[in-house]
Amino acid sequence: MRAVVQHGLEPDQVSLAILDDPEPGEDDVIIEVLAAGVCGSDLHQWHGHPSWAVEPPVVLGHEFCGRVVAAGDRVAGFQLGDRVVSETAAHVDMHSPLARVGSYNIDPERRGFGTRVNGGMAERARVPARCLHHLPDGVPTVIGGIVEPVAVAYNAVVVRSAIKPGDIVVVLGPGPIGLLCCWLAHLAGAGEVLVAGLPSDESRMGHAKALGATFTHTGDPEALPDIARDLSDGLGAHTVIDAAGVSASFVTAMDAVRPGGSITKVGWGPQPLNASLDPIVAKAITVNGCFSHTWPTWEAVVGLVGRRFDEIMPMIGWRGPLEHWIDGFEAMESGTAVKSVLLPSGVAEADSIS
Ligand SMILES: [Zn+2]
Repeated sequence: MRAVVQHGLEPDQVSLAILDDPEPGEDDVIIEVLAAGVCGSDLHQWHGHPSWAVEPPVVLGHEFCGRVVAAGDRVAGFQLGDRVVSETAAHVDMHSPLARVGSYNIDPERRGFGTRVNGGMAERARVPARCLHHLPDGVPTVIGGIVEPVAVAYNAVVVRSAIKPGDIVVVLGPGPIGLLCCWLAHLAGAGEVLVAGLPSDESRMGHAKALGATFTHTGDPEALPDIARDLSDGLGAHTVIDAAGVSASFVTAMDAVRPGGSITKVGWGPQPLNASLDPIVAKAITVNGCFSHTWPTWEAVVGLVGRRFDEIMPMIGWRGPLEHWIDGFEAMESGTAVKSVLLPSGVAEADSIS
């Protein structure tokens, strides 16, 4: 089968390769991959500076859907031909203390697709059946390539934050996750959703407004906290979702949040912060980290996407076959597409709805 493979840890070690087709274990299914979203982390792996541990050679891709074409003997609940989307925790010890309480997403032994286990940018993928959820009928297949980032944003905004109707919410960073956080904050009832980015993010703000942003800002980051105070009762945002990929945005978050408010940090950035954390103490700020997602989040997200996929469809600015992977990666890097989706089994499937 053809697959987009990272061969080494140096820059530019990603290419299209031919691999043996995977075989299912007893608890696995093999899916014919129909759609595989490109994540910012895939771009980082391509450039040789991954956000997390990578064990090459490995097939990239952790945002994918497909059709079941083979199943192990112990698989129940999924039939050949079913359209499914996959979670990302490819390897989990389901007997670990964290897995036993449902928090397998943060278990230190978790290994994810596309970094340490072959992922979804291939014609076939082997997936443990526990990772799978049905893609509802009526949802175009291409949407199955962006359900995973919706689950990331849902975990940040709905599970790890506590937004109430009328709240002032600031979202830092209008990347795919930030835009989806904006959407979910809007759906959760926020009274104002302020999305902030760099001047170079201006083209993304149309998406932000379509997804529920009531205010966007691409100017001086230092002006943002005052804007948040002006939009509120003068105290600032009830919740700041930090979806920017740099540590420095946390300083803005601490300034923009109101006393007693909360910051949920979902964006990764390896740089040292080099700033005082005293505002957390002085303002009694709650800081929530969040990583990945779990089964109940996925079930909620699949239901949500099943009803409202048309609202997020415009985020998919590039779609194409596996052999054009580099075009999809470049479209995201240049910003011409918010999301790119590879279609390993051909572009004709992209619009099918069952
Ligand atoms: Zn991702």
